[in-house]
Amino acid sequence: MPQNDWQRRIARAEELGAQYSFAAEILRFYVAIARFQGNFYEELGRSFERSRAEAGRVESEPFVRPLHPELTGRFGRFLSVVEENGPDPLREAARELRDGGADSHFQMLTVFWNESETGPLPPGPRDFFARAFLQPYAAGIRSWSNMRWSGPTPYRCPFCRRKPGMGVLRPLGDGGQRSLVCSFCLAEWEFRRIVCPGCGEENHAKLPVYTAEELKHVRVEGCDSCRSYIKTVDLTKSGLAEPIVDEMASIPLDLWAQKQGYTKLQCNLMQL
Ligand SMILES: [Zn+2]
Ligand SMILES: [Zn+2]
Repeated sequence: MPQNDWQRRIARAEELGAQYSFAAEILRFYVAIARFQGNFYEELGRSFERSRAEAGRVESEPFVRPLHPELTGRFGRFLSVVEENGPDPLREAARELRDGGADSHFQMLTVFWNESETGPLPPGPRDFFARAFLQPYAAGIRSWSNMRWSGPTPYRCPFCRRKPGMGVLRPLGDGGQRSLVCSFCLAEWEFRRIVCPGCGEENHAKLPVYTAEELKHVRVEGCDSCRSYIKTVDLTKSGLAEPIVDEMASIPLDLWAQKQGYTKLQCNLMQL
């Protein structure tokens, strides 16, 4: 029986990979990444508990604190996972990073960590390596520190300040309540259904929705004002979906949206 979030994602990725040939390769790679992330998350959780026991308190505002150099201790192992399982360009990038040494890894991770102040890294290998490696840490410090949000509905993650990577519709009464999911720390926050998360457009006529035959429970939500789109996983139609995985698997929707001239608000972990 799958237990934690990462194990559920792995099981879902294996299931969808067997079902949809167009997503098989990406999901196979994601399974390897998610295994690393799940183990890393548990290791980090144990050391967080130890330091909480020693300090007798929890750090507030963990996302504004500088990244700790100790974290890079596990980065070499992550590079091996990519070297063994990744697509060719990422394997090559992993080898180059390995040659660069620990100081350059820490520098790259720090640039990504601080990017809510300095602006985002462009999509590509460096964004992939930093995002995938630090994601369990970001998800962990958010939940272990019991961070809560009670302010107005934000367009960016209220915790780590990154853009949302996708939406989720959860059953509510006769319909669905939309939430956005952070592209980095995976936090979820409620967001009105008929509003573009890119620019705030509220005109229904400018917010087209598109679904495809292959995965009927995933939809493209476009915006004709800023020409951005996100994908939303509709859990009222498929209670078995694991939003991050189903978003990743629905590649035909990205191809369709990009052909229509929309740009994704934020690339997912696989840089799609
Ligand atoms: Zn976040
Ligand atoms: Zn917009």
